[in-house]
Amino acid sequence: MKKIAIVGGGATGTLLAINLIKHAGKQPLEINLVEKRERLGRGVAYSTVKDFHLLNVPAAKMGAFPDDVEHFHRWLADSHYHYAPNDFAPRRIYGEYLRELFSQTLKNKGANVVVNVLDDEATDVSVDESRAQIALASGAVLYTDKVVLAFGNFPPPHPKSESQSFINAEKYFRNPWRADLTEKIAKTDDVFIIGTGLTFADVVTSLYHNRHAGKIFGFSTRGLLPAVHRLGYSYPSFSGELKSQTKITDLLKTVRRHIKAADANGSDWRAVIDSLRPQTQEIWQTLPEPEKRYFMQHLSRYWNVARHRLPPETWRILNKLQAANQLQIGRGRLRNIEAGEDGKFTITYSADGVETNFSADAAINCIGSESDFNRVESPLVVNLLGKGLIKTDSLKMGVDAAPDGKTIDKNGMVSDVILTVGTALKGVLWESTAMPEIRAQANKLALSLLNGG
Ligand SMILES: Cc1cc2nc3c(=O)[nH]c(=O)nc-3n(C[C@H](O)[C@H](O)[C@H](O)COP(=O)(O)OP(=O)(O)OC[C@H]3O[C@@H](n4cnc5c(N)ncnc54)[C@H](O)[C@@H]3O)c2cc1C
Repeated sequence: MKKIAIVGGGATGTLLAINLIKHAGKQPLEINLVEKRERLGRGVAYSTVKDFHLLNVPAAKMGAFPDDVEHFHRWLADSHYHYAPNDFAPRRIYGEYLRELFSQTLKNKGANVVVNVLDDEATDVSVDESRAQIALASGAVLYTDKVVLAFGNFPPPHPKSESQSFINAEKYFRNPWRADLTEKIAKTDDVFIIGTGLTFADVVTSLYHNRHAGKIFGFSTRGLLPAVHRLGYSYPSFSGELKSQTKITDLLKTVRRHIKAADANGSDWRAVIDSLRPQTQEIWQTLPEPEKRYFMQHLSRYWNVARHRLPPETWRILNKLQAANQLQIGRGRLRNIEAGEDGKFTITYSADGVETNFSADAAINCIGSESDFNRVESPLVVNLLGKGLIKTDSLKMGVDAAPDGKTIDKNGMVSDVILTVGTALKGVLWESTAMPEIRAQANKLALSLLNGG
């Protein structure tokens, strides 16, 4: 019997298990899925219980399967949720969808497939010839032929600051997704938020719905907010023009030309960006490393705000708070976050040669998941790196691996036993975090594992 262990049962690990079960045929198969019970199917992304934390992709495009992207929208209707195809449904409901899909798949599985969900945490992996042994926090040990690391999003790094006094302060929140965040912040608190991306938008909407009265100050290097979605436009693919381009500046010129053409033809720049989506992984893989570095340093922030957009409902809340001057956005270089004895923070940042001080009652870290695995605190990651079974990719954006997810060890050997999927492949594939990429990866990886890959 083939044994496959999946570490992490968020959206990615759960979808991989679903695909393995679906495609197993008559093959004898044992799947061990390691995840905390309450997190199963939800992971970090879909664990929120707040209905105003919305998906950032329209319902009709969030289906769990690459060949049926409308599946989620149909499920909503069948489950008596009333959302139009272009609506942005609550992420809570998406977690419910994945959990139900998993239960349904288990009910329909063949007797040849055994599935164990282990309410546990993997802390270590050893590889012996062509098999692996996984140590679990409970003390149990799993023996398996393959290990798939689907560990997703890690807690963010602390912001760089001269003083580290803020780290243990009562009102510094490293985890912006903690369920009790708004309970811990007084309504009149002035709040400083580091990072102005989608997580920032989540936190601001939470404060808004909690009738927050204090000032909210969002801060990032460029002070860019994610763009808002504008649906209903399309743009033809121009992938042929991009294939031979291996310089970021050439790619940028081509994309800008198409954005102008879209404007002139009554389309929208967002449709141009979306038309690139099927090619982005391929383009990334053909870029020479200095070009990738150039992109990361100079353009990735602009790409992120153009590509990962806000639902209009969320955007309206940010606008309303900005218009009322309750929400302000700053940019520059963060110098210091000093926590005083009174529990208040003094934040110092500089922009255009001017240094500014800001006083806040609470500070929230919305920098985003730690991607440099050398700094990830998970015992499993620390042990895997320590043994040299995995290493970071050269851009320190995730795990070094072949594009199909087979990890590469410290000696450059491609592993047949340890694989990874999802966010950890960001350095290898660049776009590897959202559902459209993840559902395709889960499907492809399942087929490859079942066919001996
Ligand atoms: C707040 C947020 C909102 C998002 N919204 C959207 C959206 O609207 N649309 C979209 O397409 N994408 C969205 N994304 C992107 C998101 O990354 C993917 O959609 C997807 O949810 C990723 O799932 P995942 O399982 O890879 O990661 P995660 O959701 O981070 O889950 C990983 C899981 O692995 C578990 N794990 C890690 N290490 C271990 C271990 N050692 N042992 C056992 N378990 C372990 C964790 O407990 C966790 O539950 C969002 C991401 C975030 C963070």
